[in-house]
Amino acid sequence: MEDCCVSNNNSITIDTEINCPRCGSKGKDIKIITIKSLLLPEALATLDASENYRMCSNQKCDVIYFNDKGGIFQAQDLKVPVFLKNDDQNCPVCYCFGWTREKLKADLEKTGSGTAENEISGHIKAGRCVCEVNNPEGSCCLNNVKKYLASLLEI
Ligand SMILES: [Zn+2]
Repeated sequence: MEDCCVSNNNSITIDTEINCPRCGSKGKDIKIITIKSLLLPEALATLDASENYRMCSNQKCDVIYFNDKGGIFQAQDLKVPVFLKNDDQNCPVCYCFGWTREKLKADLEKTGSGTAENEISGHIKAGRCVCEVNNPEGSCCLNNVKKYLASLLEI
């Protein structure tokens, strides 16, 4: 019987993980389809599609995506502002259904408890969300929506 803990392919382990070349923060794995979808033409033309890309998770760092060879993409290379790195009120929190910080705040003020979370959940259940190609994080936005709403209620 094979040992289930030994893998014979070259899977990435924690030890070989590359950190952001600018700030040294740990990166979050991002699928290449997400990056291809969100890069502006000039930036896309420089993409090394054979590389693994990660997103720098440091809010204050200018680097959005980086690869193992030190290649980076910054905010100006993307079609959309990146929620994690952008404080603007017009920055989307939910990219698929257009909930910006401003819109979430206005909805919360108008309704008291907010309708966004329910609405987005409904869209997710109906299979309508495409976070993989809309959200620079490449993952579901609902956590960011919840966190943002919670931060508004704390004030
Ligand atoms: Zn960084």
